[in-house]
Amino acid sequence: MTDQTPAPKFDTLAVHAGATPDPSTGARITPIYQTSSFVFNDADHAASLFGLEAFGNIYTRITNPTQAVLESRIAALEGGTAALAVASGHAAQFLVFHTLMEPGDEFIAGRQLYGGSVNQFNHAYKKFDWNVAWADSTDPASFEAAITDKTRAIFIESIANPGGVIVDIEVIAAVAKKAGIPLIVDNTMASPYLCKPFEFGADIVIHSLTKFIGGHGNSIGGIIVDGGKFDWLGAKHRYKTMVEPNESYNGLVIAETFGDFAFAIACRVMGLRDTGPAIAPMNAFLILNGCETLPLRMARHCENALAVAKHLSQHDKVEWVNYAGLPDNKFYGLHQKICPKGAGAVFTFGVKGGYENGVKFVGNLNLFSHLANIGDTRSLVIHPASTTHRQLTSEQRDLAGAGDDVIRLSIGIEDKVDIIADLDQALAGC
Ligand SMILES: *Cc1c(COP(=O)(O)O)cnc(C)c1O
Repeated sequence: MTDQTPAPKFDTLAVHAGATPDPSTGARITPIYQTSSFVFNDADHAASLFGLEAFGNIYTRITNPTQAVLESRIAALEGGTAALAVASGHAAQFLVFHTLMEPGDEFIAGRQLYGGSVNQFNHAYKKFDWNVAWADSTDPASFEAAITDKTRAIFIESIANPGGVIVDIEVIAAVAKKAGIPLIVDNTMASPYLCKPFEFGADIVIHSLTKFIGGHGNSIGGIIVDGGKFDWLGAKHRYKTMVEPNESYNGLVIAETFGDFAFAIACRVMGLRDTGPAIAPMNAFLILNGCETLPLRMARHCENALAVAKHLSQHDKVEWVNYAGLPDNKFYGLHQKICPKGAGAVFTFGVKGGYENGVKFVGNLNLFSHLANIGDTRSLVIHPASTTHRQLTSEQRDLAGAGDDVIRLSIGIEDKVDIIADLDQALAGC
């Protein structure tokens, strides 16, 4: 054996990273450790676990072996040092900010975000006095302009909602670095198969595992991945959770003790321990299974999405198509830079005839499911104006990219001939 074995490639990691046959039974697939708690060897063992002097399982709110495999797998796929899997994408975001922010602090977010994140930032965080400043993800200078003394982080999506926007992570990472603050990237829409934000200078990556990584529309989950490069101890701002002696752990300083995976540890032992959004072992298991075929599914999702986008862009009942994979799209250049393997599976188009035909079109579809999700094996559709953005005025909807004629598709992995046939028959009836 030499130690020059090349590092396994992405597709191999997607199947194997973090998993070995179960040591006690030989089970080849990672078991569902459906237990709330774990027996201590003796009192000293218990004391060392509670004092964070040894790693081990205590209670499934904090760690669980099925969850641990999922965490190692996604950390390996993203190229991070460690990860923390939690109950949902929104819980992942919450724990990241819970670790970084104090009352009165600010962060900057690109306004092209998943609608639920906009709500979380605008409303839920107000109760903690964590204040969001909005910038334009297509204009890196707008982030720099929004920085103040109180700014503690920048948050963007790699491929941004509602689809079609590709964000220049590298340029925004440079803005964050200059300000001495971490860049957080929600990589849900791209998945690590299409984009690895750490390679462009991101410090923290989060995912909704509910979408492409789990991939089968059967479980909710989220994850925080620590890039391991941010210098908490040398940072110009004091991130208290990271650098102050911790009373609940005998004065331990997390950034000193845990080095390049300190952020993931802080989110777990302070955030998750105290606020509680743990992932169910069953969900961790289902998402792990989904993860094994991530590269195969993403390649097919993107191939199908490109074929559908091309077809729609030539259709006489279609006003416009916004998919970065089309060479005449304004984000085509950034697609080549940020996610050259594909522009993702979620995009929007405009149906001629506005609101009325938007509703009619969705009603005519058979293969597509009309629902509020993305990243399933199945093709999905939503008409935001009559559903998620219904309460807004027509003007507000336009501003949010959810105008009356906008249809959002999440293209599945079915045969593209059937996907296109379903769209054609639905458009014919408009
Ligand atoms: C779905 C989603 C979230 C929220 O994740 P949940 O698992 O639903 O909590 C966050 N960001 C993006 C981009 C999403 O698509």
